[in-house]
Amino acid sequence: MTKNEYLELVEKLNYHNYRYYVLNDPVISDYEYDMLLKQLINTEKEHPDWKVEYSPSIKIGNDIVDNIPTVKHEYRMYSLDNVYNLAELENFVVRIFKETGLKDIFFTVEPKIDGVAISVIYENGRLVQALTRGDGEYGEDVTHNIKTVRSLPLKIEEKKKIVLQGEVFLSKKVFEEINSKRLQEGLNLFANPRNAAAGTLKVLNSEVARQRKLDILFYAIASDTGLKSHFENLKYIEKLGFKVSQLSRKVDANNIMVAIKDIEEKRESLEYEIDGCVIKVDDLDIRNRLGFTAKYPKWAVAYKFPPMQMTTVVKDVIFQVGRTGRVTPVAILEPVVISGSTVSRATLHNFDEIKRLDVKIGDTVFVEKSGEIIPKIVKVVSEKRGDVKEIVSPEFCPVCQERLYRDEEDVSAWCLNIDCPARIKSSILHFASRDALDIKGLGEKVAEQLVDKKIVESIADIYELDENKLLNLEGFKDKSVNNLLKAIENSKEKPFDRVLYGLGILHVGKKTSEVLANEFGSIEKIMGASVEKLMFVKDIGEVVANSIYNTCRNKRFLGVVEKLKAHGLKFSLDESSAKSKINGKLNGKNFLVTGKLSVSRKEIENLIKENGGNILSTVSKNLDYLIVGEDPGSKLDKAKKLNINIIDEKEFIEMIK
Ligand code: NAD
Repeated sequence: MTKNEYLELVEKLNYHNYRYYVLNDPVISDYEYDMLLKQLINTEKEHPDWKVEYSPSIKIGNDIVDNIPTVKHEYRMYSLDNVYNLAELENFVVRIFKETGLKDIFFTVEPKIDGVAISVIYENGRLVQALTRGDGEYGEDVTHNIKTVRSLPLKIEEKKKIVLQGEVFLSKKVFEEINSKRLQEGLNLFANPRNAAAGTLKVLNSEVARQRKLDILFYAIASDTGLKSHFENLKYIEKLGFKVSQLSRKVDANNIMVAIKDIEEKRESLEYEIDGCVIKVDDLDIRNRLGFTAKYPKWAVAYKFPPMQMTTVVKDVIFQVGRTGRVTPVAILEPVVISGSTVSRATLHNFDEIKRLDVKIGDTVFVEKSGEIIPKIVKVVSEKRGDVKEIVSPEFCPVCQERLYRDEEDVSAWCLNIDCPARIKSSILHFASRDALDIKGLGEKVAEQLVDKKIVESIADIYELDENKLLNLEGFKDKSVNNLLKAIENSKEKPFDRVLYGLGILHVGKKTSEVLANEFGSIEKIMGASVEKLMFVKDIGEVVANSIYNTCRNKRFLGVVEKLKAHGLKFSLDESSAKSKINGKLNGKNFLVTGKLSVSRKEIENLIKENGGNILSTVSKNLDYLIVGEDPGSKLDKAKKLNINIIDEKEFIEMIK
């Protein structure tokens, strides 16, 4: 890097700081920002003489705007140094041991709430002031808005002056609501709950803040309590009536990673976003010895989880035809790694969504992926819009060329041709999917060939496949042919609700299939039910009932069901449940799975259910077996305490053999 390039990088990062902290409207993802900052810090290490006093490596992000009065902090507020992997975390821990020369040091591991830092001051038992982090030395007075937080006591028992530090945040749900409202009002969308919380904190009209339901979790008390342990301090502030995270733990150095994994496991189920864990030295005397840099405490570090959001470019939009004929626009993206996997497509759902996002081909967008959810586009970075192309809704099916039908609201287009190869392919994939008939080896490439070569024209034809037909397909040898035929044969043992789900009736998902199977017991009874009778069933409304009723009167559907029946698939509960009673090796036993296994958790859970077992969500005395994989979390410790049977994957497979 040349000195000029270094100076450009400083400018660039300062620009991104401004967009992020002042405008709450970033144009790159946090991960991209962190990587640029890392590059800057490394360059400054190599060329210390280049370093300028306005470098973003020295100062913390400054969110001070013009219209809010600032107040000097009694206790300076800091940012946190970041690590992204175990090796970097180990460096941090080793440094602490080395600098202190101590052997026993305890740490706290806390969730890193993705909100905005706040300092709240109480005097004589009354809330007197709330300040943002600002530039660390001065913060903005946002007392009026903080007072709207429902979980925050305005009055406490403690009469001594206390200064608390915490994180103001918005729940994921409220964030979605705010963005939909902004959309209706034609305002720019917030990229994430943190930006939305930062924006809300600064509004001048506290009625707006009240409506947006800000919340606060406290993670520190800056004023002296007489206690020497940070963890004790957390308990103390909880006792005073403040909300603290229940996920925080005090651990020795060997258990930091276990505690992090535990918190990471809960990430998706929390109602607010966390973007990592904060690891802090617990002993306040040791902290004093370690001190601070201009930007960070030396006794703490943020361990960041893999990013869930990145920015990338929409290269094209294609239209996919699903098994119901619905045409879904899919964005083809410049590939980007999110949450550990490469993302090159994102669903755009329908034309409403395209309008909502105002996305065009060529746009730079924020893409988000969490867990098993299909990647989605969250927002367009309008600042980066250059040459773009409008996304045009197609008139004809991209696969069979039939004219498309548009629903009344013009939200979706539909291909009504039931022989459309695209529809047949997707219905095969759905039928063979894990939650339906679970036919391993019948994936996208195979389905495509089967349909293109006209070997399979409906899901029933899957059961007509034989060696000769399969050996015709590219990539198939004796072994793969045998495996697929075996998987097809085994699928005949799947219970009625999974067959029902596999049929792919519009609006009938996995849960509804279970409910229908249990309620009616057989396909004949479902076929014979009126719309009203179907609507009597829990969670089935008019739209779903009509869809079931109409499908059951469709000749082609009835033909497929008859053929599947003839092949011996299960179309009634009695047959399948009777069978599972005989085979139900796990009947009535309660299971829970923890840690990484060689197959997905869902697969193991399906096996448990198929064999008559139940799945619990927590470790309790009712649990019979805990199935443990790699890196188990606290569930293992708890199960040991309760004397629960602990087995590994192999032992479990033995049980059901
Ligand atoms: P940070 O958010 O990474 O970490 C520091 C903050 O963590 C503290 O101020 C505190 O408010 C918060 N925190 C949450 N839980 C905590 C806990 N249990 N204990 C202690 N602190 C806790 O640091 P930052 O300086 O506020 O912001 C830097 C972050 O902002 C980086 O992740 C960076 O990627 C992002 N950023 C992004 C852009 C962009 O353009 N996308 C620009 C600037 C900064």
